[in-house]
Amino acid sequence: MKYVYLDNAATMPINDSALNKMIECAKYYGNPSSVYKAGRKARKLMDESRAVIASILGVDTSEIYFTSGGTESANWALVGAAFANADKGKHIITSPIEHHAVLNTCERLNKLGFEITYIPVDKYGIVDIDALKKAIRSDTILISIMYANNEVGALQPVNEIADIAKENGVLFHTDAVQAVSAVPINLSELGADMLSLSAHKFAGPKGVGALYIKKGTKISPFMHGGEQERGRRAGTENVIGVVGMAEALKIACTDIISSGAKIAEKRDRLINGIINSIEGVQLNGHPTMRLPGNVNISFENTLAQSLLMRLDSAGIAASAGSACASGSLETSHVLLAMGVPQNKAKGSIRLTLSCNTTDEDIDYVLGVLPSIVEECRGSAI
Ligand SMILES: *Cc1c(COP(=O)(O)O)cnc(C)c1O
Repeated sequence: MKYVYLDNAATMPINDSALNKMIECAKYYGNPSSVYKAGRKARKLMDESRAVIASILGVDTSEIYFTSGGTESANWALVGAAFANADKGKHIITSPIEHHAVLNTCERLNKLGFEITYIPVDKYGIVDIDALKKAIRSDTILISIMYANNEVGALQPVNEIADIAKENGVLFHTDAVQAVSAVPINLSELGADMLSLSAHKFAGPKGVGALYIKKGTKISPFMHGGEQERGRRAGTENVIGVVGMAEALKIACTDIISSGAKIAEKRDRLINGIINSIEGVQLNGHPTMRLPGNVNISFENTLAQSLLMRLDSAGIAASAGSACASGSLETSHVLLAMGVPQNKAKGSIRLTLSCNTTDEDIDYVLGVLPSIVEECRGSAI
């Protein structure tokens, strides 16, 4: 049976070249902190990987810190900046459409005495810049706004936000887990103080990521223990994961603009095909300010769970909003923040493409989707 994987925003199959590097690297068992030969070999692999990632992002190697993934990077950025700057103030600004790695960390900080302001988004899922400007106070220490939303793909005005943060002497963290490898990012131009990324979202291994911390940023360590990562992130390094991440990033970012354009072309064909063949549909997110691989559509009078089950039976892997929400029947917090009514939000699914998605894949989905939607509408769901 035909199998079409359209959940690339949840995770991606590992890139062959990254996998081969990891297999090769697995035999270097040395601890990077050890001074003898085996340790030095592992250290060298770490250094080379860090240099690759730093050069792609346009930053210094000393500004890249390895973590266990996007969730840890975001937790560290928020908690670390909050704790280290609490003497200056306890006010943090974020948005209601962030990933739960950010939202739940904000909730925890709120319980610890920090005050959180959530900047509203418009109907396209883009944060309101004027509201952001107005929300800044003398005790604001941090702004955390994602680079691109994982559910509806909305690209945020991060350049403007970085400028506003800088003018006001406030730190700016951006969760760029979905954006890295999808759109070109040059941190020397962006001017964010911290940026989170995760390897498995760009065809690297799971359980490894990085946090960029600009030189001079006040941030306390998140993991306490040894002196790894310049004394800021303790624990013996995931050498194999780091090597795989660097290779995957290198490949994902080669020809990023032309490969993004090719993916966007397929995305638009899928969107237009759905809109033209099925009644009662609505595209969620911005028509153009969106990730090249993101399609998020509401099908009136359906339930996402039953659409997804039928798609799965037809060999199509998709999701309702985020992977984390797929198991639950909770309505997407992102769609609700955008003002999508409950009855449309509950029938919304996300189809996310990658450079591996073919024209045949798109044709296949467009071929089976109309009858699947019809079945869903016809049944008592
Ligand atoms: C996947 C994702 C994360 C979490 O990354 P993990 O490496 O899976 O912990 C955080 N933010 C966004 C926007 C994501 O898409």
